[in-house]
Amino acid sequence: MATHLPTASIITIGDELLIGQTIDTNSAFIAQELNRIGIWVRRRVAVGDQAEEIRNALDQEAMKSDLILITGGLGPTADDMTKPLLCDYFGGKLVRDESVLKHIEYLFQEVYRRPGALLERNKRQADVPDVCEVLPNAIGTAPGMLFRKEGKIFISLPGVPAEMKKLVAEQVLPLLSKEWITASIQHKTLITAGAGESVLAEALAQFEQKLPPSIKLAYLPKYGMVKLRLTYVGESDLVGLDLLNRLFPELEALVQEWLIASEDVGLEILIGEWMKKNNKTLGTAESCTGGSIAQVLTSIPGSSQYFIGSVVSYANRIKVDLLNVQQETLLTVGAVSEQAVKEMIQGGLQILRTDFMVSVSGILGPGGATPEKPVGTVWIAAGTKEKTITRKLNLQFDRTRNTVITTHQSLLLLWELLRTNEG
Ligand code: AMP
Ligand code: MG
Repeated sequence: MATHLPTASIITIGDELLIGQTIDTNSAFIAQELNRIGIWVRRRVAVGDQAEEIRNALDQEAMKSDLILITGGLGPTADDMTKPLLCDYFGGKLVRDESVLKHIEYLFQEVYRRPGALLERNKRQADVPDVCEVLPNAIGTAPGMLFRKEGKIFISLPGVPAEMKKLVAEQVLPLLSKEWITASIQHKTLITAGAGESVLAEALAQFEQKLPPSIKLAYLPKYGMVKLRLTYVGESDLVGLDLLNRLFPELEALVQEWLIASEDVGLEILIGEWMKKNNKTLGTAESCTGGSIAQVLTSIPGSSQYFIGSVVSYANRIKVDLLNVQQETLLTVGAVSEQAVKEMIQGGLQILRTDFMVSVSGILGPGGATPEKPVGTVWIAAGTKEKTITRKLNLQFDRTRNTVITTHQSLLLLWELLRTNEG
């Protein structure tokens, strides 16, 4: 008989999640962590601070999953109602936990350094249902709580992300790993560019058809690239490893034409590793992106080893004065042109004295369009003294998204150049 592999549901609580004021990052974190230890997350549900809604969510998820993880609603104010509700739901009564109370007193006196006596409202954070196991919260006032009912485990955690994360890492995961035989969940991801999802799906139709039930193929489009992820969910690490080791190279071969990387890392990391390995340096000359390519490149620790700097040549005068773009280029074909980005590469290489340069000039919108150059017209280039490659983008989104896509497409173009420079 097949062992039952445990599954989980995540319920996040708070009106702020429903009105979009707070983005639910808690359930993404929890899902990743549960995946790591082999617990498959079946559902993620967000509900408001409303007793009926929370009850319904608990009932529903208990029917589906073995583990129900709940975050939020544990604050000291009336809008947070998770604790009394859970107490009632599991048929307990609230009792004051002396060690939690001591911890709250310690936090208020020694850490927050609040003068005066503790408010009754704060003391009540030490009240816990007598039917739960308390999970002490070292960095906050609201403890986690674990309940058991009909073979299922319910764990309630504070909504504050830092407190939730610490509780998950230090208490919840070790406890679950001890309690259950968990599944093996393994992922392998590659990155493609230059083909849309549908084109890839056509190329992979046969491959997909013969995948065993324990393997899933996911398409994840982002920034004009598509990630392909193979996921194994099953009972055995070895079987999973064996299947992925066999199927992943097949997948790579089928998308060879569009393959950018065989791992799930950002282009800025791949580029950084390449620069270090080849002992080369890099700079950017950016008009419409205003430095955002440099920002992404420098988000990598240690990028000072290869990233030299950037000329943000927003005004034409800077393109001319610092990057040596020719007046004639601006007068004839304009700043948003292949010729201009090529000249920006050469000018940038000179002034920043780097081996590689990325340049960009375009109209990101909403204004600035001309009949020949509509909003979204962007020229990007990547080059060395000897060789420059260029690409024209025709973007269709708002200014923010156009900037993000331009940034990533520029890195992609550079990556293409680097790969042709390899030995
Ligand atoms: P609570 O436990 O409901 O008092 O939540 C405390 C804080 O954590 C609030 O400022 C929330 O915005 C934040 N928070 C609650 N739930 C989430 C969530 N799912 N993702 C990210 N932040 C959250
Ligand atoms: Mg709340």
